[in-house]
Amino acid sequence: MADPSVSHQNTTVHLLALTELQMARFVRTQCWPEYRATQILRWLYQRRLRRVMDMTDLPMQDRISLSRTASIGRSERVSVLRSQDGTRKVLLTLEDGMTVESVLIPDDTRLTLCVSTQVGCILDCGFCLTGQMGLKRNLKLHEIIDQVLTAQDLLTSAEHITNLVFMGMGEPLANVETLKAAVAALQNKPWGLGWSRRRITVSTAGLASRLAEVAAMGVNLAVSLNATTEEQRRDLMPAASDIASLKSLLAACRRYPLAPHQRLTFEYVLLSGVNDLPADARRLIQLLKSLRCKINLIPFNEFPGSRFRRPPDEDVLRFQSDLRKAGLDAYIRRSRGRDVYGACGQLGDVSGNQPPVTLTAIESRC
Ligand code: SF4
Repeated sequence: MADPSVSHQNTTVHLLALTELQMARFVRTQCWPEYRATQILRWLYQRRLRRVMDMTDLPMQDRISLSRTASIGRSERVSVLRSQDGTRKVLLTLEDGMTVESVLIPDDTRLTLCVSTQVGCILDCGFCLTGQMGLKRNLKLHEIIDQVLTAQDLLTSAEHITNLVFMGMGEPLANVETLKAAVAALQNKPWGLGWSRRRITVSTAGLASRLAEVAAMGVNLAVSLNATTEEQRRDLMPAASDIASLKSLLAACRRYPLAPHQRLTFEYVLLSGVNDLPADARRLIQLLKSLRCKINLIPFNEFPGSRFRRPPDEDVLRFQSDLRKAGLDAYIRRSRGRDVYGACGQLGDVSGNQPPVTLTAIESRC
């Protein structure tokens, strides 16, 4: 099997693509002292370095030899689209020319980063622009981490990311080994970003057999439900529905081992006249009433060519009120970044017209 840390276009090792174990092995192959692995990882994650030659606590000779065989693995072609509401959509151009998107979403006291795990998506949810792209490929570890580090580069000194959600392009559980490595690096205190697992959420469109792997990571789980009958789910989310029926998905949710402070989140995209009717609310109540959960209602964010429409505000409020009257904790997710196609379900090809800008241009904006 090909080594995921090695660039396909040349034989350069991407240091950011190495897990802690792989870094230790790499350091051994260089005949360096063991502590060098942590030293390098700190440079990558905590100091967000972009050039091997800037690792100033490594002997010059080692830096020179390292820079001959390895690079950091960060993208230098970054575009930022700013929404009028303060949302920033960040586009990274990858080594093979593909583009991946992440979104920084400010909301009151929170600043959430929405991260992608695939270019395109293996699933085909009808209400999602990414789903229409098909799957281009899974992202590698350095390409996921780069989204977080680049977002951090863009923050002002008064800002910090409070929450990280794997809800961008792609189905995270279809790239689960890389997801696990990314979560481990985000949580690692000695050399990584030291994030609490409570601040990290993984969203799935329904890979029921892999929910146990999310539980093992200890992060929050969000399930993208969107339908209340098998038929409706097959129509709205055909591939996800083939992988797990609504019944088996909810059974897996019931078995999910929640910690005392935790509850599941269900995402429900409201599509006008399709799944936002009083009968849908009634069925949703029946499906979820025995689960410890909250429900995020997401009024559909329109994109060109879609067969769906956004419901009027009064229909959204009525749907929420029906759920609340039945004792369910239901919230309406405010749509952010719609003007830059940065809102939920809008990540994908539409934004591809924006020319990349250089890193220098971005840094000068911060
Ligand atoms: S909603 Fe999520 S899982 Fe479904 S197609 Fe879009 S990115 Fe993929």
